[in-house]
Amino acid sequence: MKIVVDRLSPTPQEFEFEAGSAWWRQAIAPSRDLPEELPEPLRIRVEAYTAVEDLVIQGTVEGAVPLECSRCLARYRQGLRESFRVVLEPAGLRQPADPEGARALTRDGLCLSEDVGSGWFRGDEIEMGPFFQEVVSLALPVKPLCGEQCKGLCGRCGADLNRGPCGCPEIESESPFAVLQQLRDGSTRGED
Ligand SMILES: [Zn+2]
Ligand SMILES: [Zn+2]
Repeated sequence: MKIVVDRLSPTPQEFEFEAGSAWWRQAIAPSRDLPEELPEPLRIRVEAYTAVEDLVIQGTVEGAVPLECSRCLARYRQGLRESFRVVLEPAGLRQPADPEGARALTRDGLCLSEDVGSGWFRGDEIEMGPFFQEVVSLALPVKPLCGEQCKGLCGRCGADLNRGPCGCPEIESESPFAVLQQLRDGSTRGED
């Protein structure tokens, strides 16, 4: 997933990359404990051009990723369509303050600022893999849901409530708030 700097010009050039299971396994899956296979590679369309000394790299990542529902724990496919745009300045002789950024600049020819919308580049070739890793990580939901209506698992028997009621008695009195309330009542009584 490389972009050759010398070949860029003020006229936008288009590139297409595929990020497959190998990339996913290395970039995303382990840190989030996700399935290791992508159903199909993510398609990354890139447009890149120079703006005076800077490089502008923008485009979209599209596809589907395997996630685990935070309520019912089922694996499901989440559609993904994320656009990105980053403006890179030539690093010149400057050195990023953080060691991670300095390593990235040497290794990939690219280090990003905190907001991922800007950064520095160095050398003739930019390895875009770590940048796409950032874009995709930020695009993933913090609390993945297989569907808005997901009913989750029964807190008592663990049954998947999406398949129907499990037959456990109502657990209303055992909600975390009720338990807290009981504890609070108990401790008040203890003090008396
Ligand atoms: Zn679910
Ligand atoms: Zn149950």
